[in-house]
Amino acid sequence: MKKSAVLVGSIFTAAVVLPLAATAGQATSASFGRTADGQDVQIVTLTNSHGMRARVMSYGASLQSLLVPDRNGKLADVVLGYDTLQGYLDRRQYFGATVGRYANRIAHGKFTLDGKTYSLTLNDGPNSLHGGTKGFDQQVWKVLDVKAGPTPSVTMEYVSPDGDQGYPGTLTVKATYTLSDDNQLKISYAATTDKPTIVNVSNHTYWNLAGEGSGTVMDQELMIPGDAITPVSDAAAIPTGDIATVAGTPYDFRNAKSIGRDIRDGRSQQLLFGHGYDMNWVLARKEIEPRVVARVEDPHSGRVMTIWSSKPGVQFYSGNFLDGTTIGKDHHIYRQGDAFVLEPQLFPDTPNHPDFGSARLAPGETYRNVIVYRFGIDQAGKK
Ligand code: BGC
Repeated sequence: MKKSAVLVGSIFTAAVVLPLAATAGQATSASFGRTADGQDVQIVTLTNSHGMRARVMSYGASLQSLLVPDRNGKLADVVLGYDTLQGYLDRRQYFGATVGRYANRIAHGKFTLDGKTYSLTLNDGPNSLHGGTKGFDQQVWKVLDVKAGPTPSVTMEYVSPDGDQGYPGTLTVKATYTLSDDNQLKISYAATTDKPTIVNVSNHTYWNLAGEGSGTVMDQELMIPGDAITPVSDAAAIPTGDIATVAGTPYDFRNAKSIGRDIRDGRSQQLLFGHGYDMNWVLARKEIEPRVVARVEDPHSGRVMTIWSSKPGVQFYSGNFLDGTTIGKDHHIYRQGDAFVLEPQLFPDTPNHPDFGSARLAPGETYRNVIVYRFGIDQAGKK
């Protein structure tokens, strides 16, 4: 990959013949800086004909920014993060990042597969979180392919060596970001292995549909079509193994309500453990056909985001540990509740709860997690 900015596809020729608005999607690639050990990080910009623009960087195969129109067509960047690579390197916060090998927690970093017990690196008290001390979010992925055209896309790859963070098998992971002309961003994760292993890859974007740095998301309206959650035993957030109904609890988002409506309900021990919402919702007991796993609407801008996936769980985290010490894009300080995270995935700690399903991947199989973020505007904004 060239270090200088390169323009991919036929934009030059198209731009000469057609007005810009009529061109197909664009895809450009440029350098975004270097890691401390000298690796070049690329940033790929995908644009559709409505001006929606995604920037994906090869550090962590991360969504660095996403411009989305509001009900008046005004664009705002709806994801938290940094303007420069250095911000991402200085502090690990999973902004926009691909998380793995195992997104979420594995108790004591231990699991048994085919009779053998494996020990992972621990980075969250006594547990392993989002892949361990050096997860996918901190790796420089290789940019394999950048495509312009009606649905511009970028594919990145990371090969995690056998034994990486304690996980068995060489795992080859691909992340493809595709922007469509009807304002959908799709992230397709795929992974293969050369030995039996476990996998659970997701994306950890911090969203604020009113725009990053605009303040709290507490009045944004969330719907999660899950009847149950997997409660945790304490603040370390390891599931007890129970499946508990959301009925009559602050965790009931089956009908849309504002994120902040019940977040201060002190009768909920689970909310106290998480300092807010930090929980896995049970959408199904196994992988099923792609369907809506969450819908969020910002009443002020009218932006609506619907997330689709086929995974059985979705982790909803209300940005509880953003504590006003992060200076993000455009000098914005990020404070508690300034964003929400929705991660379609397997249930946390599945390898230690056979009832939760299986995270096993064997040679010859392909692991997949396809997440679609569909953007639109609310009914009030529709003419
Ligand atoms: C977890 C939180 C954690 C956060 C880190 C989320 O996926 O559920 O507990 O603090 O990631 O950004």
